[in-house]
Amino acid sequence: AAKRTGEPYRSWSPAMDERAGQNARLGAQMRAGLDDGQFRVVYQPIVAVPERRVVAVEALVRWDHPDRGPISPAHFIPVAEQNGLIVELGEWILVTACRQLARWRAELGDRAPDKVSVNASARQLARPGFAATVTRVLADAGLPARCLTIEVTETAVFEGGQAITTLHELRALGVRIALDDFGTGHSSLRLLQTVPVDILKVDKLFVDHITEAGRPTVIARSLIQISDGLGLTAVAEGVETAAQAEALYRLGYRLLQGYHFGRPVAEPDFDLTGVRAAA
Ligand code: C2E
Ligand code: CA
Ligand code: CA
Ligand code: CA
Repeated sequence: AAKRTGEPYRSWSPAMDERAGQNARLGAQMRAGLDDGQFRVVYQPIVAVPERRVVAVEALVRWDHPDRGPISPAHFIPVAEQNGLIVELGEWILVTACRQLARWRAELGDRAPDKVSVNASARQLARPGFAATVTRVLADAGLPARCLTIEVTETAVFEGGQAITTLHELRALGVRIALDDFGTGHSSLRLLQTVPVDILKVDKLFVDHITEAGRPTVIARSLIQISDGLGLTAVAEGVETAAQAEALYRLGYRLLQGYHFGRPVAEPDFDLTGVRAAA
């Protein structure tokens, strides 16, 4: 029979074996690195405009590999998802981020951000015990549930099932749910009907060309309307310039995140309200 069309034909290649071998090695090193303290968490401001108040921070993991130097989470998180280590790594990130916010609240009082936003992967959400883990971590850190946002991607909740149940449980605790990279998936709008969500994180893809009159701008405008119409909160990601921040503000965005306001670092600058010139 003829080969079915539309199906990519993937034959074995030496490169695939090599890739699999590298990932297996990386997975094993990750296990050791977790015990050895090679991971750390950095925090990127999420800023309310026009007042420039840092209302939240997103926790992002970093791995300083002893031989290879820093490895991007875009590279090692998928490996951790595959070998299952993301469950343990993810819990360590959650604990670290919640303790850090509790520390800032104790040290800085009103000047501390209200919330920390932590990314959760499909594997974590698919476990029936995840909401119980979150409950325990919050209690240990002495942090109210309203201080935590869990960021999930469309692919992580697409399958439905336990992931959706987990999201309902988290919300019942008072934790907020953010749909990450919104607009880049295959079924973003359909998911809005089925997934319990509070925040839409509009992907950088739509922010990059926001200062031009073009399709990304039209889409970004539609997304803020959908967000407002559904009573959700929108966050625009990947804001790199003052001009982009300005354009997003004019479209109605009131929460922005990106290098323009601060890169992910161990101790972010929470005082952006001054007259400091736009970088
Ligand atoms: P994400 O969740 O969409 O995180 C945003 C990414 O965009 C981060 O990259 C951040 O450093 C980067 N970013 C923020 N503002 C700007 C900007 O203005 N310009 C540009 N060019 N980039 C910006 P990062 O830290 O390398 O993380 C990449 C991805 O890895 C994350 O995308 C997320 O999917 C995953 N990841 C990172 N940390 C964690 C984690 O703790 N747990 C899980 N499950 N995944 C994580
Ligand atoms: Ca995220
Ligand atoms: Ca994102
Ligand atoms: Ca992303």
